[in-house]
Amino acid sequence: MLLTDACIDRDQANLDRIRAGAQRLLGQVSAILANGDKVSQIDGRLRSLVDTAHWALERSLPTDFTAGLDHTSHAFRMLGVISIRPGESNQELSALLKLHESEISRAGRRLIYVGLAQKRKFGRINRWEITPRGTEVLSRQQSTPPVGEVFAKLFDALLGRRFVDSQFSEEDLIRLTNISAAAMRPAVQRLVDMGYLERETRGTTAPGRQALRVNQRRGCAVGVSVLRHEVRAVLTDAHAHQVDTKLRPLPTVGTTTRVDEIAVVGAIGEMVDEWRREFQILGVGAEIAGHVDEHGTVRLSPPLRWRDVFLRTLLEERLGGLPVVVENDANVLAIYEHRFGEAGGRMRSFAVVMITPRGEGIGSGLILNGELYRGNEGGAGEIGHYTVRPTGGRKCRCGRNGCLEAETGVESMVAKVRRATGKRGLTLKDITDLATADEATAVNAIEYAGTMMGRGISFLMNTLDLEGVLLSGPPEICSTGQDRTRSSKVFLDSICNEAQSRLYPTLRGAVSMEKIIEMMPFKDLDRERGAASVLLDAITGHQAARQETSRSILTEFTGHPA
Ligand SMILES: [Zn+2]
Repeated sequence: MLLTDACIDRDQANLDRIRAGAQRLLGQVSAILANGDKVSQIDGRLRSLVDTAHWALERSLPTDFTAGLDHTSHAFRMLGVISIRPGESNQELSALLKLHESEISRAGRRLIYVGLAQKRKFGRINRWEITPRGTEVLSRQQSTPPVGEVFAKLFDALLGRRFVDSQFSEEDLIRLTNISAAAMRPAVQRLVDMGYLERETRGTTAPGRQALRVNQRRGCAVGVSVLRHEVRAVLTDAHAHQVDTKLRPLPTVGTTTRVDEIAVVGAIGEMVDEWRREFQILGVGAEIAGHVDEHGTVRLSPPLRWRDVFLRTLLEERLGGLPVVVENDANVLAIYEHRFGEAGGRMRSFAVVMITPRGEGIGSGLILNGELYRGNEGGAGEIGHYTVRPTGGRKCRCGRNGCLEAETGVESMVAKVRRATGKRGLTLKDITDLATADEATAVNAIEYAGTMMGRGISFLMNTLDLEGVLLSGPPEICSTGQDRTRSSKVFLDSICNEAQSRLYPTLRGAVSMEKIIEMMPFKDLDRERGAASVLLDAITGHQAARQETSRSILTEFTGHPA
């Protein structure tokens, strides 16, 4: 009775006393009746009393004191996996947690030592299971994070490239996000209830292991690209995969008049409204050539002739409060590559250098340590205006001379070829065709453009020590692999030679520049998909400038203010 009460009350002092008393009794009984067989019964009872008291005492000690497991420790992660998948072997755990088997056995020893898990032998293999005490420790230590945080992490896992075109389970999500099953279950259920996730109900698997997939008609994003004569839009699913496209021409503008922002907002509004009848849309991402600040105001866009256009506010008003993000075109490509591209999976710090489709403008987007770097005013990455030719350079549209954009841009190539050949009305395609036909002036013009670009890239590399630079541009000069044109080869070779010669000796000295600088020719609708990905990326709340958007989308999902 005394023991039962003490256990229930978790009365440590009494449990201590009981254990000590039982031990003393056991000693006395053993000593007095050392040679009697009849004592075995009493002896057994006393021993079990000592054991019960001992384990009750162990369990009642503060768990953080006895377990002392850090949330991020291997042992804690291993305990989490064992709790949802009992019966895994060391080898299986090693694959699940991406840890070496020796680390698994070390973490396992810690878990056994503090009584949180145990091994059982099945045949020749040891399989792990959690003890009641382990379950208790887990539920206490896996503090339940705020609902918004659970959803943000959940989206982070869902949106990444990890589940593209495939099924996954609740367990996969728990493992990827490190969120407890207790917090994950209701979050997943809510997404299922909302139709965002679909559960595979065939088969008799336990709920935690039921296959889930993302519903392509829910949680969609719209990406738009505002150009001088048209607005192009793409509807994507939650993985930035293209589902549908639309296009609206804009009223024609003369060479000096500006693009009418009201017409732009109207065109985007119409397209989104049409899609909204069929799809659930989380928000709209818009990309603009020019300087866009963190509030989505277009501070300056030379091609649209815009200055201080409150594009995000205008769009949100037109779309009835649907979240909108507006971002610079090069930043859009950088975020797209970071979250959904192959290079983004390899590198944490890189730049996307973008040459506009007709070769007239140059910008860059910087991903530093896994985050877009926007700078103080959102104007970071304007490498087009590096002075690469301090004297005798061409006039740039920013008003100064010798900027990278002016020296590398198509106009500079056109001027050189015209001077030598007298040909007028040349395009980038004409020049690259001439280069393919071995026309010396055209080859030289491309070589010079590449050299200046290499100089610009060396500035970027010397400042930021990047892992790599992706060069996104017209296929005439940025094609890769099999269909590489003569011009692309000349362009890349001169970039690499110049960059290598200007790089600080210890920076990437041993690696060839071809490995660091990669060509990424434009594919159709890349920019629009990129814009959609910026909206999707905003949900995860990783980018500081997008937290407001993240909160408003998550509030919609969770039903709680995030
Ligand atoms: Zn300039």
